[in-house]
Amino acid sequence: TKRMQRPDRTRIITISNQKGGVGKTTTTVNLSTAMARAGMNVLVIDTDPQGNASTALNIDHQQGTPSIYNVLIEDWDLKEVLYPNPDTDNLFVAPSTIDLAGAEIELVSLVAREQRLTRALQKYFEYREANDLPRIDYVFIDCPPSLGLLTVNAFVAANEVLIPIQTEYYALEGLSQLVKNIEMIQEHLNPDLHISTIVLTMFDSRTNLAVQVAEEVRDYFPNQVLNAVIPRNVRISEAPSYQQSVLTYDPSSTGALSYREAAMEIATRGTKR
Ligand code: ADP
Ligand code: MG
Repeated sequence: TKRMQRPDRTRIITISNQKGGVGKTTTTVNLSTAMARAGMNVLVIDTDPQGNASTALNIDHQQGTPSIYNVLIEDWDLKEVLYPNPDTDNLFVAPSTIDLAGAEIELVSLVAREQRLTRALQKYFEYREANDLPRIDYVFIDCPPSLGLLTVNAFVAANEVLIPIQTEYYALEGLSQLVKNIEMIQEHLNPDLHISTIVLTMFDSRTNLAVQVAEEVRDYFPNQVLNAVIPRNVRISEAPSYQQSVLTYDPSSTGALSYREAAMEIATRGTKR
């Protein structure tokens, strides 16, 4: 099998879609695991108050646990809230707790409220450099299904947006709003930001509808849709209840295979627009 190349600089990828249940968290968990297992140094930042990514990656996130909340609201260092994933080397998680639910409101009155995650990451990268720690290759930020200040912080901190799209009715609905929001961030807060990657999720090749929707999405985003498609696969949906990625839970499943392929494709394509 092909060896994964490290990127020239840290790639910060926000996984976003204001629709819930499209596979944002699943994609964050499994791509980050696939990347780390291919030898990359990977961080996952969970900015969804639900904390599903933290759960799936087996990171304690009871209320009061030091988490991304303390970083965003109380100026803690990111390194104080990074926990290793027990199944995979080089994979660290900044969990969210339910405290983050109030953060949307608390952020409003803070200085540089849109840049808090950006600054925390910068400071952490500087710390690693000063201490001769290897560079982080990938940061994946799991977003809540809304376009509030938590998502804005993710967009401002990232260079790339990855949008998971569920291949079903209304897949494209709401996407133009998401694209407009990303353009607004580009214009006012982060000129670097662009949609680099679309991942088709929960694909069922037996239905004409899924095939049609996939075609529609490829027409709309001709350069961004990965060739690797994530099938609807029961192993993917079972894995989180064992607090595991599907790569740990069932490494030979089609779900695990498809996420490994997607990770390799993302690494190979680089950051091209
Ligand atoms: P989001 O983070 O966008 O709300 P999730 O990643 O939590 O979406 O996925 C929603 C639900 O769908 C979860 O129960 C998850 O386990 C399930 N799911 C996600 N992707 C797949 C897939 N490819 N096959 C089967 N179930 C999936
Ligand atoms: Mg989620």
